[in-house]
Amino acid sequence: MIIHSEQDMIAFGEQFATNYFKVKPCNDVIELIGDIGTGKTTLVKGIAKGLGITDKINSPSFMISKTYHSEKQPITLTHFDFYRLTDPGIMQEELSESIENPNAITIIEWASAVKNVLPKNRIKITISYNDDGTRTLEVSEP
Ligand code: ADP
Ligand code: MG
Repeated sequence: MIIHSEQDMIAFGEQFATNYFKVKPCNDVIELIGDIGTGKTTLVKGIAKGLGITDKINSPSFMISKTYHSEKQPITLTHFDFYRLTDPGIMQEELSESIENPNAITIIEWASAVKNVLPKNRIKITISYNDDGTRTLEVSEP
């Protein structure tokens, strides 16, 4: 799918959150794959919006993870970003807890350091740049 703009990416995330999780509520770990600046965090903003989260979403790079609460439903979204981290340390435990929590949606950017704790049935969303500035987005379901 071609995503034309930042607004388009947010709209896609919003729609994904409202449609997908209603149909498959237990399939709630998402790995985001793509180079820096392709729009992974922008997509998280859209997904958060669709889940009824009103807090501002920032890149958690220095914090590694941030948890947000929905205003509409009893769920949380935890956003992990392991950029440049080779040893996740204690964050790996936090990730496992989020993955095991049935009321938590877990989204991970730069997951290579934590591949061994990710469930096989995760959703993978890959985003890549196109020459004209648009992005190509691909969802791969388990
Ligand atoms: P990442 O988390 O992948 O490093 P970000 O979401 O933080 O990327 O940043 C993506 C940047 O690219 C934002 O500044 C956004 O405005 C811009 N952008 C331009 N076109 C698009 C598009 N089609 N989809 C998503 N972001 C876009
Ligand atoms: Mg990011």
